[in-house]
Amino acid sequence: MEGKICLLRVDLNIEPGQEKNTNRLDAIIPTIQWLLKKGNKVVLLSHRGRPNPVSKIKNQKSKLTLKPFAPLIANKIGAPVIFIKNFGKIPEQGKVFLFENLRFWPGEKKNDPAFAKKLAGLGDFYINDAFAVCHRKNASIVAITKYLPSFAGPLLKKEIKNLNQMMKNYRHPMSIIIGGAKISDKIGIIKYFWRRADYFLLGGGPANTFFAARGLPVGDSLVDRSMLGSSASPILSRFNAGRSGFPKLILPVDVKISDRKILDIGEQTVKQYAGIIKKSRTIIWNGPMGLYERRGFEKGTIGIWKAILANRKAQIVVGGGETIASLKQIPNYKFQIKRRKNIFLSTGGGAMLEYLSGKKLPGIEIFKGSI
Ligand code: ADP
Ligand code: MG
Repeated sequence: MEGKICLLRVDLNIEPGQEKNTNRLDAIIPTIQWLLKKGNKVVLLSHRGRPNPVSKIKNQKSKLTLKPFAPLIANKIGAPVIFIKNFGKIPEQGKVFLFENLRFWPGEKKNDPAFAKKLAGLGDFYINDAFAVCHRKNASIVAITKYLPSFAGPLLKKEIKNLNQMMKNYRHPMSIIIGGAKISDKIGIIKYFWRRADYFLLGGGPANTFFAARGLPVGDSLVDRSMLGSSASPILSRFNAGRSGFPKLILPVDVKISDRKILDIGEQTVKQYAGIIKKSRTIIWNGPMGLYERRGFEKGTIGIWKAILANRKAQIVVGGGETIASLKQIPNYKFQIKRRKNIFLSTGGGAMLEYLSGKKLPGIEIFKGSI
């Protein structure tokens, strides 16, 4: 489509304070430029963090506003970006617009048709270029496509192409490495992959949650208590041995602790995980092994990166906002990763895990057959 207003769903889910330090921002620029070149106007849509849409706490809202990204994007595309705080007519002047954090409205997470219709009213057609959100049945991902001609964007297509390729060639041993903070999303994945994968190497919040499920003391560590009864404990008791009788679900044997919190995996664990990574032929990783942003707790994540970069035989996918950001801890990382044809970096964390496990993602199903 040309000479129209495009609603472009992008991924600007970037932590407050990390605005300038990110490849998510760079990733959306080519799609914006491509649309402008065709004579379109662009309205950028995204969510940011997990605000409570009914809360009146201004502070929380202002921290999660998308406003700071307007000048940053303007800088990168060399044209003004107008921030739009609320519904209304798109100004005549200007070519690129950034709409406020969609999750400030309760309709977004509820996939509410009325909210989707209001969003659709801002433009003439819709493009989804936010793979990382495609596992969520949200208004800007699913419901909006009922009201506008809808297309998959170039970033989304690239993700699907690469991940499909990966799925065609699953080889054993297959290892799934899971860490990070969004525990409930990730523990579910273990079930989906259970039959196919040979090893699950755990770190971060998911490892802590399994420690707690085993009854081990975890102090004030990041744990998802809601997972203990319904999910973590049954997984432990049902799936404690693999095909060869060898444990499949592997928890850290040592950890780093500070202020009563488990904040990283220990050296012995890195050695053990590196050994399994070395012999694996398919590797999927999402979630840093520890609080890598804090000095002294980055070694587990760095250790996993080193083991991954040393494996030239396996097919490897690494995904997730923070997981990819943690690559910057490796000296010369751009050079190292560029030369590695067997490693694909995905923008999705939870979405990538779900897609690779064979689950249908609501945001992708819409384009079924056309991607
Ligand atoms: P991704 O963005 O790669 O999908 P998540 O969003 O699930 O990953 O989680 C990333 C965050 O998890 C990082 O900011 C990291 O500091 C945090 N994290 C990892 N391990 C721990 C831990 N043991 N305690 C607290 N935070 C952790
Ligand atoms: Mg994240």
